[in-house]
Amino acid sequence: MDQKKIEAYFEEHREEMLRDISELVRIPSEKGEAKPGMPFGEMPAKALDAGAKLAEKLGFSVRDYDHYAVAVNLNDCPRQLDILAHLDVVPAGNGWTVTKPFEPLVQDGKLYGRGTADDKGPAVAALYAMRAVRDLQVPLTKNARLVLGSDEECGSADMKHYYSLEQEAPMTFSPDADFPVVNIEKGRYSTCVRASWAEDVRLPRILSVSGGVKSNVVPDTAQAVLEGLPVSELSVYAAEAEARTGIRFLLREENGRVVLEAHGTCAHASAPGEGNNAVTGLIDLLCGIPFADSEGFRSLCAVKKLFPHGDWKGTAAGVAMKDEISGELTMSLNLFEYRSDGLKGYFDGRTPVSATDRNLRDVFCAFARSLGLAPDDEGVSPAHHVPEDTPFVRTLLKCYEQYSGQKGKCLAIGGGTYAHHLKNGVGFGCCLPGTDNHMHGADEYAVIDELLLGAKIFTQVIIDLCS
Ligand SMILES: [Zn+2]
Repeated sequence: MDQKKIEAYFEEHREEMLRDISELVRIPSEKGEAKPGMPFGEMPAKALDAGAKLAEKLGFSVRDYDHYAVAVNLNDCPRQLDILAHLDVVPAGNGWTVTKPFEPLVQDGKLYGRGTADDKGPAVAALYAMRAVRDLQVPLTKNARLVLGSDEECGSADMKHYYSLEQEAPMTFSPDADFPVVNIEKGRYSTCVRASWAEDVRLPRILSVSGGVKSNVVPDTAQAVLEGLPVSELSVYAAEAEARTGIRFLLREENGRVVLEAHGTCAHASAPGEGNNAVTGLIDLLCGIPFADSEGFRSLCAVKKLFPHGDWKGTAAGVAMKDEISGELTMSLNLFEYRSDGLKGYFDGRTPVSATDRNLRDVFCAFARSLGLAPDDEGVSPAHHVPEDTPFVRTLLKCYEQYSGQKGKCLAIGGGTYAHHLKNGVGFGCCLPGTDNHMHGADEYAVIDELLLGAKIFTQVIIDLCS
């Protein structure tokens, strides 16, 4: 099949494809309460129905997997390729300026709206690729199947269900990531450290510390309640810590106690360097204040030694590591609670392919115990890795290079996609290197030319793998 014909096909169908994506974006398909026949709530089910209807309108046969997912088959031949995309979205959130989250809008070559990039745009691009292969009458001997899920953002129970009924296809990609090819998704070492002690009432003292909302989000706020020191004296320490950490501290008196608020910047746990951790910043400040010596205060200072502010690579813990194919380990203390008789801190670790229980967990735990902290018993869950040098990955890279004109290469990410548990599954598209589509944030958009490029590349991939 001639590349020019494929390119012309998508220029002809550009407007129609944008209209179909926009229809799906209008459905606010964030997870809701489960109802009969709607395992993830009304809106994800509605999005699946709309996806199925669109595929049927385009002339494909569709199979519903109990409203967890729907599958669109290109033909009746033996299955060769699964394409896994999702029609659920994360909540709209605040701060949208270009348009409302569920009112898609084209501006400056971009399609704005929640789900345009993650992942409704890429899902429709894959569907249109199947349509192009059929309309251009390319003879195939194998089947490509698009599987549309509805729970990617909340645990992927949709794909668990799909794979309880279906074998893994020989090859799978998920257009829910970046171009060129994501062949490594880091592993995890995420658990909790704890300490407990008998309450000590000597002053000055810390009554409580808390911060963080989810273990996979770098926290932007944290709070402490202190007793026995005046605001005037504490502000001196706060100003010094603010200069040191970049965290903003606010102090106020309340019922004879001082409430201390810390404000940093949140980030996804897979990229802690993009945020500024309010919890570790607050601990940094507290450990510099002359509180009465107590087991509690010593334990807090031990946490600081394990997770010093600004160290999100496990350097202090002695586990910093990286390898050429997957990059650096990241480790971030994201949820923390300190009471008068104990503390616990949950951290999120994203691990390179080379991480093991021996070189990571054992080293971390030995150091934590030497500081008097008790780590929970949790092992390293290994990274997902599909070797670069397979016919499948080589074909994806070739098609990417052919249509984008850019050099193809494999990437490692700290996040996870549908492909994480598949033997021969990778992330592939639709975001080009250098594009920040505000995924999960306000003003999410997809670059329209990138969606079209994705559709053209997918068309060629289906032809190359299924002929
Ligand atoms: Zn996604």
